[in-house]
Amino acid sequence: MTEHLSDTRDLAEAESVQLTSELIRIDTTNTGDPATVVGERAAAEYVAEKLAEVGFDTTYVESGAKGRGNVFARLEGADPSRGALLVHGHLDAVPADPSEWSVHPLSGAVQDGYVWGRGAVDMKDMVAMTLATARRFQRDGVVPPRDIIFAFLADEEAAGDYGSQWLVRNRPELFEGATEAISEVGGFSITVKDDVRAYMIETAEKGIAWLKLRVRGRAGHGSMVHEDNAVTKLTQAVARLGTHKFPLVLTESVREFLAAMSEITGMEFDEDDLEGAVGKLGAVARMVGATIRDTANPTMLTAGYKANVIPSVAEAVVDCRVLPGREAAFERELDEILGPDVEREWVAKLPAVETTFDGALVDAMTASIVAEDPGARTVPYMLSGGTDAKAFDSLGIRCFGFAPLRLPADLDFAALFHGVDERVPVDALKFGTRVMDRFLRSC
Ligand SMILES: [Zn+2]
Repeated sequence: MTEHLSDTRDLAEAESVQLTSELIRIDTTNTGDPATVVGERAAAEYVAEKLAEVGFDTTYVESGAKGRGNVFARLEGADPSRGALLVHGHLDAVPADPSEWSVHPLSGAVQDGYVWGRGAVDMKDMVAMTLATARRFQRDGVVPPRDIIFAFLADEEAAGDYGSQWLVRNRPELFEGATEAISEVGGFSITVKDDVRAYMIETAEKGIAWLKLRVRGRAGHGSMVHEDNAVTKLTQAVARLGTHKFPLVLTESVREFLAAMSEITGMEFDEDDLEGAVGKLGAVARMVGATIRDTANPTMLTAGYKANVIPSVAEAVVDCRVLPGREAAFERELDEILGPDVEREWVAKLPAVETTFDGALVDAMTASIVAEDPGARTVPYMLSGGTDAKAFDSLGIRCFGFAPLRLPADLDFAALFHGVDERVPVDALKFGTRVMDRFLRSC
C-alpha cells in the first residue's frame, strides 16, 4: 500500500468517529408527531456539505412536509450495465431523556473508547461510516464496480411516511436502476467462542401490523348493574390477545441462521423444539426468539372520562409483528381471538420482507469481513422490527442489513437500540469503515 493510500485510510477511520459524534450533536429527534420534528433538515444539509466538499453532486428532497430533509448522491461505477447498489441510512433518531443518561444524549462525547449519544448505533454510526468511505473514494478517485446510490433519509423511526415510503411513492426515479441495497441492523458481531465471531447479516424482517381495537357498549351510571360495559369487554379481548401464543413457524432465514450457528458452535438445535433451540443462543435469544412466531403486544388503552360514568366506547392499540407468509393465517387467528364484539382496523401495516442469503453481493460482504477479522463467519438472520428496507423491497430491490461492527464479547448490543446510554465503540467504527471500503470496492 502506498503512503498516500494508508493516509487516506487512516483519515477515513478518523472521520467515521468525528462524523458520528457531529451527527449525534444535531438533534434529529422523531417522536412520531410531525409537529414536533426538528433537525432532519439540518442533518441533511450537514451530510450534503460533507459530500459536496469532496466533489459530489447532491440532491436535496423534502418528503411531504417542510424540514423533512433527504439527501442523495450517485457515484458512477465501472459497469453501467449492472444494477446500482443503494446504500441508505436514516438521519432521525428516537427521543432520549437526559436525566436517565450518564452523558447528555446529544453530546456525541468521545470517551472511554466509545462515541456516546442517541443515534450512536441507530444509525448515525452507519451514516458516518458511509460518508467517510464515500469521501475517501472521491479523494482517491476510486471507481466502484457498479453505480452506488447514497441515500440519507428522514423519518425512519415513524415508519417512513415522511421518508422512504413517501420517496418510493413520489420520487421513484431517485432509486432508478437499483437492484440491491444495504443499510442498518446487520453486519454486527456476536462472539460465539473464544475469539471467533459470527456477523449477523439481516436478510428478512417481520411485517408491522399496528392494530386499533374498539368496543362499543351502552353508556350508563357506574353505580348500576350493567351488562354491556365497553371497558370490560375491550380489556378481556386485549388480555386474550396479549397472552395468546401464536404457532411456532420455522422460516427459511431462521432455519439458515440455526444451521450456521450449529456449524460454528457444534451445538445441536432441534427444529422440533424451536423454543429450546433459541434458549441456547445466549445474548441473541431475545432477538431471535421474536422471529419464530407472530407476536401481539398491547401498547395503548383509551376509555372513559369520569369515575362514575360507564363510557360507550373503549379503544386499544396492539403492536403486532407478523412472519413472512403468515399474513392471512394471522388475520384468521386474530378474528377468532377477538370475537364478534370487537371492531378492528390497521393503524399501520407494512409487509414482511425476506431475501435469500446467496449471490455475489453476499460473497462480497463475507469476504470484506473475513479480510478484517480472519476466522469470522457471516450468518443470515431475521429482524423482528422493521426498517426502511420495507419501502425499497416494494420497488423490487433486494435488501440486506449490513452495517459492519466488530463488537466486544460482553457488550449487550441489542439493548443499545433506543436504549439509555446508547454508544458505539470507536474501534468498531474504524473496523466498520475498513470493511465498508473493501465491500464497496468489490460490490
Ligand atoms: Zn434505525
